[in-house]
Amino acid sequence: MIKYLLKVNDVKEALIKKKENPDYAFYAGGTEINRLNSNLKFEGAISLEGLGLDEIKVTKDGVKIGACVTLQALIESKDIPDYLKEAAKFCASRTLRNVATVGGNLAFGSDDSYLMPTLLAAKARLLTSGLTSKGVFTEDNLPIREYHSNHDSFSNTLLVAIILPREDNRIVLSKRFAKTTHAHSSVTVAFGAKVSNSKLSEVRIFAAIKGTGIERFSEVENAIENGVFNSSADVEFAIANAINAKDDLTGSASYKKYITSVAVAQMFDVAKGGSK
Ligand SMILES: Cc1cc2nc3c(=O)[nH]c(=O)nc-3n(C[C@H](O)[C@H](O)[C@H](O)COP(=O)(O)OP(=O)(O)OC[C@H]3O[C@@H](n4cnc5c(N)ncnc54)[C@H](O)[C@@H]3O)c2cc1C
Repeated sequence: MIKYLLKVNDVKEALIKKKENPDYAFYAGGTEINRLNSNLKFEGAISLEGLGLDEIKVTKDGVKIGACVTLQALIESKDIPDYLKEAAKFCASRTLRNVATVGGNLAFGSDDSYLMPTLLAAKARLLTSGLTSKGVFTEDNLPIREYHSNHDSFSNTLLVAIILPREDNRIVLSKRFAKTTHAHSSVTVAFGAKVSNSKLSEVRIFAAIKGTGIERFSEVENAIENGVFNSSADVEFAIANAINAKDDLTGSASYKKYITSVAVAQMFDVAKGGSK
């Protein structure tokens, strides 16, 4: 449980306070910071409230989602594509959705993340701010896959916004598997691709696998792009062989392999069909 909450006036001040207080978190919705038995242990936190990070805007680059936009606000916005609304609904509790933020979900980056697999499959980009070791303020615009693959190195970086790029012919599909809607998921899997005449390119396949982490299936992506697979059964076989899963309370390793590989194979079929 945090003991102190600092109020700041802008993003730069938030970063300066974080640098001065390495044991402090950024406080967005606070749902994970305050969760009983959370692995996050912080002395205090820096509130992100009032920094203007809670807006959704349509820009020339795509839909810009402020990091402090809540999961419920995603669902209620007319500008958010259905695939992301569906991922926000993976959080079954409306009470939690009213408070939990997009930025907090990505920064937490758990092995049952509601949004990370879908945003990776969508090839979202992130706007971030940071301070160099000399205290110089920096801003960056990076692919979410870079954030995901170097997650630990971003622990002092502030997520400012998420950009969903304008891509008319990109399909994004995701699915969450859990014993009940409110239970931790065994697997949350997402598939994204550009579709042109049933040909798939820029394929992205990610799964948040409880006990393992958020995995990318690069070899399967490449094989799909290069037309190596003739059928969804080939895709299913390849994913089942590539997946790294462990037994735990959410399900056995073989169950996780099975549901992930079948789900990806079905998504491949849907994408080849060109419609959702
Ligand atoms: C009962 C319960 C069940 C849950 N189940 C799940 C689940 O199944 N899957 C799941 O993914 N999550 C789950 N959560 C965790 C949480 O609700 C979500 O991940 C939520 O989206 C986190 O957002 P938040 O704004 O509350 O983050 P906070 O709790 O405010 O912060 C979480 C972390 O993110 C960092 N952070 C927050 N905002 C930013 C930012 N803009 N830039 C950089 N760092 C930032 C904080 O420093 C902190 O380390 C659960 C929580 C509860 C209470």
